[in-house]
Amino acid sequence: MPADCPTSIARVIRIPPQHGGWLEVICGPMFSGKSEEMIRRLRRAEIAGQRVVIFKPRIDERYDASDIVSHAGIRMRAVPVSSVGELTARTHGFDVVGIDEVQFFEPSIVGAALELADRGARVIAAGLDRDFRRLPFGPMPELLAHAEFVDKLQAVCHRCGGPATTTQRLVDGRPAPYSGETVLVGAAEQYEARCRGCHEPGADAALAAA
Ligand code: ADP
Ligand code: MG
Ligand code: ZN
Repeated sequence: MPADCPTSIARVIRIPPQHGGWLEVICGPMFSGKSEEMIRRLRRAEIAGQRVVIFKPRIDERYDASDIVSHAGIRMRAVPVSSVGELTARTHGFDVVGIDEVQFFEPSIVGAALELADRGARVIAAGLDRDFRRLPFGPMPELLAHAEFVDKLQAVCHRCGGPATTTQRLVDGRPAPYSGETVLVGAAEQYEARCRGCHEPGADAALAAA
């Protein structure tokens, strides 16, 4: 390919970003490192002198209302918000906007994220792509479709050590009922990361699907 060819890769990658503004989505099951990856990206932006903020849904007031904490204990300051409207109102002046646990927001989070990106912000949304039944979670399908960049992370399957892409909900050590609520705050339950082969649907899954 001639050096002056307008489609040559060398020419394309030398163009610096002109006006920011895009949507990145980090998804995967629980324990896959979504929050860790979010914190890594935001810290780098902060070190580069950009103004960064992380939001998280205010669903559970009991612990760390103002931090996001990864399962490995890495943490970063975050702003808990009760609605998409509150989130939007607090984004003024930030170059990079992180949204953790984005699956818990109402559907209007999609329009809000796109508007921020249109106005020049780098928006990084992290969340569970699927719930414990392996069904698409809340606004995630739309966010994934609109995103310029998508990373789907895996955890280590608690059962077999393979690549875990799903979240297993357990109640008293047994697969949780398929018909249970999608979001249970503060319930006595556990979660495991599992691969496709090790994921166990609740005993009532066949009934629910019929
Ligand atoms: P997420 O936000 O996706 O739930 P976190 O960033 O909070 O994930 O936590 C990722 C960390 O969880 C890993 O670095 C590791 O220390 C820990 N962890 C616990 N169980 C697992 C697992 N089964 N597979 C991978 N990491 C795990
Ligand atoms: Mg997380
Ligand atoms: Zn497995």
